[in-house]
Amino acid sequence: MPRRSADPARAWAVSLERRRPGLAADVLAGLAELYGHPAWKPRLDPISELVTTILSQNTSDTNAERAFAALRARYPSWGEVERAPVRSLAATIRSGGLAAQKAPRIKAALRATRLQSGTYDLNFLAAMEPLAARAWLTAIPGIGPKTASIVMLFCFGVPLMPVDTHVERVSKRIGLLPPKASLAFAHDAWLHLVPPEAMYEAHVALIRHGRGHCDALRPTCATCPVTQRCRFVNRRAP
Ligand code: SF4
Repeated sequence: MPRRSADPARAWAVSLERRRPGLAADVLAGLAELYGHPAWKPRLDPISELVTTILSQNTSDTNAERAFAALRARYPSWGEVERAPVRSLAATIRSGGLAAQKAPRIKAALRATRLQSGTYDLNFLAAMEPLAARAWLTAIPGIGPKTASIVMLFCFGVPLMPVDTHVERVSKRIGLLPPKASLAFAHDAWLHLVPPEAMYEAHVALIRHGRGHCDALRPTCATCPVTQRCRFVNRRAP
């Protein structure tokens, strides 16, 4: 009886490289023709990034930014946000949608951060192993691997791939991920698909590709630079 791999995501990546050598590297090279080589630079401070990312769950960036601005205007300090009644906080961030769910998540994230670091500073995550940092973040109610990976990748340059709807769709169409891969599997598989130094570029390129050529309903495959290796176009693509 064949033994099951202890790490199915790694086993997938190894198998993919054996069956379709150089696929991820070729895809990145093709996408670089369109999007260049974006260099990592820090965005927001980590706690602001975490709160903004919670606010952006299931809504547009514009709505999330509006809600974040309202939150900062009403509560000048993170301590005030943590101590605010859920209903008041939810009313303040309602422009971001799902406010009744996001308010307790934000409060829980701030509480966990304060209990861990004594302040509202997430910089301790930078000293942790990437998967340990991800596990610390995902232990907070309402924070999944995508939100955790966004904080780690964008704030600290730690090579964790946030798998949003665009990354998932493009990856599955090309065949970088199994068609029925769960989001948890997808996050783990991406750890093994590209070298750590390529993770940021891969994430930015896949997002841009999913918003452009690889549209959910009408992908423009004829002008896509990875057509030759995409299983959406040719199920026997190498
Ligand atoms: S060939 Fe089409 S489906 Fe494949 S990645 Fe390009 S746009 Fe998406």
